Amino acid sequence: MSQAVIRSHNQPYEHHWMPFTANRAFRDDPRVLVRAEGIHYWNDRGEKLLDGIAGLFSTPAGHARPEIAAAVARQLSQLDFAPPFQFGTPGAFQLATELAKLTPAGLDRIFFVGSGSESVETAIKIAIQYHRRRGEGQRLRVVGREKAYHGVNFAGWSVGGMVRNRDQFGLGMPGALHMRHTHLPDNHNVMGQGEHGADLADDLQRFVDLHGADTIAACIVEPVAGSVGVLVPPKGYLDRLRKICTDHGILLIFDEVITGFGRMGANFGSQAFGVTPDIMTMAKAITNGAIPMAGVAVSRAVHETIVEQAPMGGIEFFHGYTWSAHPAACAAALASLAIYREEALFERARALSPYFLEAVASLNDLPVVTETRGFGLMAAVDLAPGTSPGARGFEVLNKLFQAGVVVRVTMDTIILAPPFTYTCENVDELVGLIRKTVGKL
Ligand code: PMP
Repeated sequence: MSQAVIRSHNQPYEHHWMPFTANRAFRDDPRVLVRAEGIHYWNDRGEKLLDGIAGLFSTPAGHARPEIAAAVARQLSQLDFAPPFQFGTPGAFQLATELAKLTPAGLDRIFFVGSGSESVETAIKIAIQYHRRRGEGQRLRVVGREKAYHGVNFAGWSVGGMVRNRDQFGLGMPGALHMRHTHLPDNHNVMGQGEHGADLADDLQRFVDLHGADTIAACIVEPVAGSVGVLVPPKGYLDRLRKICTDHGILLIFDEVITGFGRMGANFGSQAFGVTPDIMTMAKAITNGAIPMAGVAVSRAVHETIVEQAPMGGIEFFHGYTWSAHPAACAAALASLAIYREEALFERARALSPYFLEAVASLNDLPVVTETRGFGLMAAVDLAPGTSPGARGFEVLNKLFQAGVVVRVTMDTIILAPPFTYTCENVDELVGLIRKTVGKL
């Protein structure tokens, strides 16, 4: 884009160090979004763009919902902030009660935090604390998986399986172990769950045999690995992980930061796959993306051990954040859950899923597309790499932006996760824009 373009914000680009961004390339070719409504953005040149990734998996009800804005404004003028330690606000109790109606049975004690990364740290600390309370303080290892993303904080990236974290930040948390990922060649190009690889869950059993169950606190997986490219678990895999965890007293953590709130066609991935963890993270769509917020749902048994059995009067769990259960976030979340319910948006996502997945799969006939896969209202399109890993993906991100669509690109994979308010025509438009753009490569 030419430097001559008058930018609406008229600010220099060098002060804001952008996260997960090629900052120097961005300055030469900025992508600035100034407005959003429904399933569209507008950039600073007044051009309209289709949102193909629901914010960042965060905005299933569409952007700028007036109900959420009004609820937040009301809350801020009534009670803008209250210390979350040793004090409560009505919205936090109400929200936890509402969330407990959506979580799997028994997973109904909710701890609020400010981001997905914080929810992962919190979940892991809860697991370790649980074992310590039970006199098994030596259970400190946490098992994650290759090609997993659990946020950027220290425990999260350590149990995650992204090589670039290790490249940039070193050894990570001691005791992190990694199972193999499930993206087997036999499962390629499957929309939904593949048939092969349930036995990869036995990697956890191998760690038990090698290190002893009494050294392992928890096993954490995303029901569907989202950020790394929509890796769907093969049939039977999550059930098998559940069984191994139960057999050996290991807590199973589902990181549902992306898969929660209808994305999988059920309240949470847990219900979509029929497997219940002991601890579950949630974030992103909890406020329809309007205000930062996340949470951890914990089983009654775990909560009972940490909270109910602790001595009266003392702080049972030495953990929390200034922004835990922020009143504005609680108001935004309550308004979002009301929209999801009243507009039956999770059901809508479920109904649209077959059409969406089939449309994405139709891109397979393009020579540059090497694989498509997906589940629910989330799918990935792998592209043949360009000059270096990630180069083609970056090129496509820019070209799609110019063509009028916002997607997420990870390395050479396009990730799509539309808002649940999409119609079949919107799916056609999204897939059509991708076909037109990618077909020219
Ligand atoms: N866990 C998973 C599964 C995620 O997908 C993400 C973010 N994409 C995170 C954790 C981290 O969330 P946040 O960026 O809100 O810290």
